[in-house]
Amino acid sequence: MKPLLEVKNLKKYFSTPAGQLHAVDDVTFNILPGETLGVVGESGCGKSTLGRVILNLLPATDGEIYFEDEPIVGVKRDKLMQLRRNIQIIFQDPFSSLDPRMTVSELISEPLETFKIYKSKSERIKKVESLMDTVGLAARLYNTYPHELDGGRRQRIGIARALALDPKFIVCDEPVSALDVSIQAQILNLMQDIQAEKGLTYIFITHNLSVVKHISNDILVMYLGKMMEKSEAEDLFNNTLHPYSKALLSAIPDPSIDNRRKRILLKGELTSPINPKPGCRFAVRCPYAKQQCFEVEPELEEVLPKHFVACHLTREINQL
Ligand code: SF4
Ligand code: MG
Repeated sequence: MKPLLEVKNLKKYFSTPAGQLHAVDDVTFNILPGETLGVVGESGCGKSTLGRVILNLLPATDGEIYFEDEPIVGVKRDKLMQLRRNIQIIFQDPFSSLDPRMTVSELISEPLETFKIYKSKSERIKKVESLMDTVGLAARLYNTYPHELDGGRRQRIGIARALALDPKFIVCDEPVSALDVSIQAQILNLMQDIQAEKGLTYIFITHNLSVVKHISNDILVMYLGKMMEKSEAEDLFNNTLHPYSKALLSAIPDPSIDNRRKRILLKGELTSPINPKPGCRFAVRCPYAKQQCFEVEPELEEVLPKHFVACHLTREINQL
């Protein structure tokens, strides 16, 4: 099957007074139609920037992105409108991403009006009602305002807005991080149901590895703009190879994962992605770091089938 989205050697650098910030630094992956790629890392690892470059909200510094074989980087205005219909986003914070002066129905109908999808008002109303039904918002909420609703319902509005244009691909940027844990599972289930029903493709960005465990086909772990590990989701949990992924995983208080695993506490601070030093970006915090790690940057290597790791000591550490 052909990928829906292809990202090749993507870079996004920002110029700051302190130097070049390497937010996304040589990231490569494919996502097949109907599948989900989970992108995991601490805040500042570049995952949200990656999402914004894919959405064309930020220009890439270098590299290529293809959506259905068509290039996204440097695309012309008319093509961009078409892309915008097909690629949508669900934001982290339904509280700040929704205009408080608009009702639920106005919020959901806004993208339809922007893109002039329906000629008649009655058709638009029908579409809004059907979107509300899809995301589990009761019809009686049609004329309510976001501040009258709880976080879960507000995020349902965000999802309905993302679905309004019948996109093929959705960038989900920490869509459940601002929600109570009890509501997170409801929203995740909803997103999975909608994906199955509509054949949607997701990139699911999160700092919380446990959130993407059940929703992802593949998982990409990022650290300071770099790919550290990428594999099928199951492999990432059952055969974690990179020291950083091991540390992320060990922080999950989930007895179903592996209660024999000891918590790995990371030493040191997240280093700055500005003017990165040579060597492995994780070296200052890595419990296994050797001299070589501070001097030579590890290449991303396919260590096992479909399992990519950027670490000099993968084989040693994991006794492969
Ligand atoms: Fe740790 Fe070295 Fe591997 Fe980087 S290359 S993750 S510092 S062992
Ligand atoms: Mg973010």
